[in-house]
Amino acid sequence: MYLKGVGPVRGKLLEDELGIATLRDLLYTAPRRYIDRRRIYRIRELEETMADVQVAGRFVRFDMEGEGARKRLTALFTDGESMMQVVWFNRHKQIASAYTPGTTYLLLGKPNAFKGTWSMAHPEVEVYDPSRPPEGLRGVYPLTESLRRRGFTLRTLPQLVAALWQSHPAVKDTLPASLLAKYRLMPLQDALHQIHNPTSPALLQQARERLKFEELFFLELHILRYARARNRRLRGQVFTTVGECFNRFFSEVLPFPLTGAQKRVLREIRQDTRTGAQMNRLLQGDVGSGKTLVAFMSMLLAVDNGCQACLLAPTEILAAQHFETISAWGEKIGLNVRLLTGSTRAKARREIDEGLQSGSINLLIGTHAVIEDRVKFHNLGMAVIDEQHRFGVAQRARIWGKNEIPPHVLVMTATPIPRTLAMTLYGDLQVSVIDELPPGRKPITTMLRYDAQRHSMWCGVGSELRAGRQVYVVVPLISENEKLSLRSLEEAYAAVCDIFPDYTVARVHGRMKPSEKDFQMQLFASGEARILVATTVIEVGVNVPNASVMVIENAERFGLSQLHQLRGRVGRGADKSYCILMTHEKISPITRKRLEIMTSTTDGFLIAEADMNMRGPGDMEGTQQSGLALNLRHASLATDGQILTLAREAAEAVLNGTPRLDKSPGEGGSETGFAIQLTDAEAASLSAELTYRFAADKDWGIIS
Ligand code: ADP
Ligand code: MG
Repeated sequence: MYLKGVGPVRGKLLEDELGIATLRDLLYTAPRRYIDRRRIYRIRELEETMADVQVAGRFVRFDMEGEGARKRLTALFTDGESMMQVVWFNRHKQIASAYTPGTTYLLLGKPNAFKGTWSMAHPEVEVYDPSRPPEGLRGVYPLTESLRRRGFTLRTLPQLVAALWQSHPAVKDTLPASLLAKYRLMPLQDALHQIHNPTSPALLQQARERLKFEELFFLELHILRYARARNRRLRGQVFTTVGECFNRFFSEVLPFPLTGAQKRVLREIRQDTRTGAQMNRLLQGDVGSGKTLVAFMSMLLAVDNGCQACLLAPTEILAAQHFETISAWGEKIGLNVRLLTGSTRAKARREIDEGLQSGSINLLIGTHAVIEDRVKFHNLGMAVIDEQHRFGVAQRARIWGKNEIPPHVLVMTATPIPRTLAMTLYGDLQVSVIDELPPGRKPITTMLRYDAQRHSMWCGVGSELRAGRQVYVVVPLISENEKLSLRSLEEAYAAVCDIFPDYTVARVHGRMKPSEKDFQMQLFASGEARILVATTVIEVGVNVPNASVMVIENAERFGLSQLHQLRGRVGRGADKSYCILMTHEKISPITRKRLEIMTSTTDGFLIAEADMNMRGPGDMEGTQQSGLALNLRHASLATDGQILTLAREAAEAVLNGTPRLDKSPGEGGSETGFAIQLTDAEAASLSAELTYRFAADKDWGIIS
């Protein structure tokens, strides 16, 4: 607000609309894209998909149209060959008097097609002299509708940036000179000049790379510093033996051999828990890959070493299902396994509290209820969290606090996360991957079907039902509108009852009371109900091997990763299974392409990559809950993997070489093996930069 040309009103607008609150924010706000100033379009060349284009020509006539608030100034504009309409909704008088018919102007704006003619609203206008054509690249800055209404134009931000350079000609670099040299990065001052006023595409490219690097470097430095500080502070339990429970289960109870991937992951976990450091490991494995078994056997390691273990699930249904599996296994080797959820009765709860404190309960399965402060363990050695994306870093920190020596933590997720994203979101976790399904799985055939094909679709479903199979019908959860999603559920339910009057149909949705939900789920799980109509509450974990068909209504409303999760509910038995994606005929080509990815592959990692490339990581499941401030201005986790790798390497090297930053003199643990030594002043400046950038992450609590 103290910048020339701003002031309190514009200052507030800039902050609200573009998140620009400081001079620094303004400098770091890059144009959304650049226009090649040499490219001038003919009107007949325009296309509706074009963003901003330049058109040269003359105004023929100005007219006032409409009444009151809808009053507007229109002009006919010609490039000598075709006509176009130009519209202004305000400042009519100034505009009409500023431009004269006959003079040649250059317009810059977005072309719109309306009833066969082209129009442009509020273009930027300048006098055009063909003997001195414009050149270079011109940045187009973000501009919202309400900024436009308050008099901002495409010129405003460039003017403000120019005023800023005037008042603050020198910008201090945020990166130490040694880093700039090693990674051949453009100095900050030059990079900022280039993104606002590029002198060439090549230099602009270098400038952008520098800003991306800087952004990712500080993000990685933040995460790594956090992870190292924690590893230093948190001593782990040492599991020295593989004992009786583990061995007995393995040789007497386990009904099938472990897959190679399961064995490998168990070895990794054993390795971690032997060292005396506290394990924080992320276990990724596609739906059905057998994570539960790995979790259980990790818990047995804890029991064999005199500890208790717990498993946390995101919903009551899932917790109950885990409890069923795990207590059955546990009983056979004489373990005391209990279930704790929000609906556990007071009396049972007291018993559980006692059993946990005395140590008589070996394994506790539950929901969020387990991390409440009143739940105290005798000696918790291992905590498994299923479906990480519902638990943030803060919750993990609470689990560490459950024991004097913090328990090892194994986080399991079936949402395959692209590597670059995992490195950042879970940068403080070691990663294990189960990349192999248990043998004997039949592939799932996925089909895309349109409303017109509904009849034949239901016929196909009918023949599966007659063959004794069960069927899921899933409707999207419309989060902005509970009523609407409930209505679509009821409609689907009524339709299904109508088409298949001979079968019992169950239904579940998120708003149901847990007892009712359990009843309905049980109806389906027992096979009494042959069809289940549900919103996405079934997404995680339910296991009904006899279900061979899943119909997903309005499939276009789901994210690909979510569809993949849903699809994992079928194909669990020995039979051939089908997933039918229903959608309208009128979906866009992009949506169709998205859905076709589902029909072409069942590889969760491929799907996750594709999802991220199409939607951007901001929308990926998990990013919101990760607890990390991931509002990247310059870099994209989807496309800047290479820069991310370098940035991470640099962050590691800096931590290795500069104990001061890390506050751990003499501590090694270098992963890349090389170190970058900083001066005290450089280290202090990096520290200050981290504080500035990540002030909001203080409430992770465990970071000082
Ligand atoms: P998820 O990784 O989705 O949690 P689960 O742990 O629920 O997968 O396992 C899916 C199914 O595969 C379960 O019925 C489980 O008993 C079975 N399973 C797990 N491991 C193996 C294996 N090594 N061989 C055969 N079946 C297995
Ligand atoms: Mg599971």
